[in-house]
Amino acid sequence: MPELPEVETTRRALERRLPGARFARVVQRRSDLRFPLPARLASRLRGRRLEGVRRRAKYLLFDLDDGMTMVMHFGMSGRLVFDGSPLGAHEHLTFDFEDGTVLRFNDPRRFGMVDLVATADLERHRWFAHLGLEPLGTEFDGAALMSLLAGRSLALKLAIMDQRLVVGVGNIYASESLHRARLSPRRSAGWLKPAQATRLVDAIKAVLGEAIDGGGSSLRDYVQASGELGNFQRCFRVYERAGEPCACGRSVVRRIVQGGRATYFCPACQR
Ligand SMILES: [Zn+2]
Repeated sequence: MPELPEVETTRRALERRLPGARFARVVQRRSDLRFPLPARLASRLRGRRLEGVRRRAKYLLFDLDDGMTMVMHFGMSGRLVFDGSPLGAHEHLTFDFEDGTVLRFNDPRRFGMVDLVATADLERHRWFAHLGLEPLGTEFDGAALMSLLAGRSLALKLAIMDQRLVVGVGNIYASESLHRARLSPRRSAGWLKPAQATRLVDAIKAVLGEAIDGGGSSLRDYVQASGELGNFQRCFRVYERAGEPCACGRSVVRRIVQGGRATYFCPACQR
């Protein structure tokens, strides 16, 4: 499943090529993905100029010159590919731009979504109203994390994966961030000290940043959003390393289950 780093990598590739481009033709091959596609999507996009491509959580936001934003989510298996030859039965949408650029939306499992929303209404829209802070934004710092977690007794790992608090910290990134911050995934979320909260925020930003850099290095015409983690996958310190020695040298990595998901951590250096 594409996680925040893959979506951000895709956004950066789109942002390098697309702003200022105008939709010449949109081919829509189905009426729905996870949800029905917007009525008359092709004709509403035709002739519109693309102002820029933003990201909120794992949604891509294509801002148009008519006050509307095309919202796109990759679901389980969605990805975008520039140019090249058609991708076959799973290429549900094809965007042709006036400058000759072609962007193909491919989604075999069809859990993705595309919608058109008034740009001014995005924050209040049902896709976005409940979302927490962006982990890479400057507003996400130690003090912000402490106030989000204050009074919460749930496990720290489950808290940082709660999209209503902070978005985009998926299962892999939660385990890796907690290991770097030397914090146990099982400790109660509401009892972090300021220095620990700052350490955890720094670790989350570093882990996501490295994953984005890893995905970005392999990009050319292919916009990678296939859910592959690229070079980052080889750098896991605890994820899927149960039984292997931790870098601290004092214990082996343990696997437990929290909220139905696997957690990997070192009982010696994570407290
Ligand atoms: Zn350790």
